[in-house]
Amino acid sequence: MGLLQELERKLNEQVATPEEARRANGELRAMMRERGNYFPEYEAEAQKVLKGVGYTTGPLSQHVIADIADHLGFTLHHVGDLPHSTRSVTDLKNHRIYLTQSQRQDHDPRSVLLQALGHYVLGHETPKNYGDFLAQRVATNYFAAALLLPENATLEFLQKAKAAKEIAVEDIRDAFAVSYETAAHRFTNLATKHLGITTHFQKTHQSGIIYKAYENDGVAFPQDHTGAIEGQPACKAWTSRAVFDVPDKFSAYSQYTDTVSGTYWCTARTERSAAGEFSLSIGVPYQHVKWFRGRETTARATSTCPDPNCCKRPPASLASSWAGNAWPSARAHSHLLAAMPPGAFPGVDETEVYAFLEAHSG
Ligand SMILES: [Zn+2]
Repeated sequence: MGLLQELERKLNEQVATPEEARRANGELRAMMRERGNYFPEYEAEAQKVLKGVGYTTGPLSQHVIADIADHLGFTLHHVGDLPHSTRSVTDLKNHRIYLTQSQRQDHDPRSVLLQALGHYVLGHETPKNYGDFLAQRVATNYFAAALLLPENATLEFLQKAKAAKEIAVEDIRDAFAVSYETAAHRFTNLATKHLGITTHFQKTHQSGIIYKAYENDGVAFPQDHTGAIEGQPACKAWTSRAVFDVPDKFSAYSQYTDTVSGTYWCTARTERSAAGEFSLSIGVPYQHVKWFRGRETTARATSTCPDPNCCKRPPASLASSWAGNAWPSARAHSHLLAAMPPGAFPGVDETEVYAFLEAHSG
């Protein structure tokens, strides 16, 4: 009986439910907030690698990245038949990293490679559960960002911008040749620890659903009863939603928003990907806005969320003519509601990966 119970426990552990995924996500979020999203251990590993290849300053070129792979003892192989469920596959037996040749991809190929190397440098083992899998992904994302935007070089850049009261995410993006999302997220790593600025970051789909969120500035993200933020609709008054209606897609859109937890200044941009249009935004409490470009904006909004009368409940005039006369068919958010795929690497077909490695290792 004991054996059977243990077996069942093991099986349950491997099939991560949405609840388990949410819980794991919540724990990670709390840990990141506590540390101001700064992880000195990953910064140190990234610096060691950069030193090993003689990097000094500026964006990380393809050439330097190839040097990094070489320095760590890996060869790179671009193939046309990478398993569908993967972005890269690492052969730890022969120290090879397989990447796709395809041009059609949402992810910066440099990040994909650096994340693959991150698992090796950070000594990751096969994840024991979904929480482990998530934590590893956070770690490799951090490691890759710490290489693309090295701590010292990025900090020097940010301190100059702060002194000139001209901090702008798009300047970080341009100086280090990364996406706006990568630049915005990297800003959250360094802002609190080094600049003394508390902040929040948000990635929101054009439908209003939040995909990624981080805060240590007290902004009140919408949450479900489990504390999960991902999958919740953002307030329609927030910058992350308002930016979709701004015709100028070339400049960042900035706005002051009065919320239930204070006044925030936020700046956002939209980026298009295969999954649709997303807004990426960075916000700070009013007291910190003096360091940012765009603080002179006259755009202002008021959000009383989570009060349902803010933006969730239809206005009385509309409700009186339509309540009871509408039958919408909902589009399911399958990525958030479906049970997490089973297996050591959720969503990855292991047979496909092993067969691929077998075929390529000759
Ligand atoms: Zn609202």
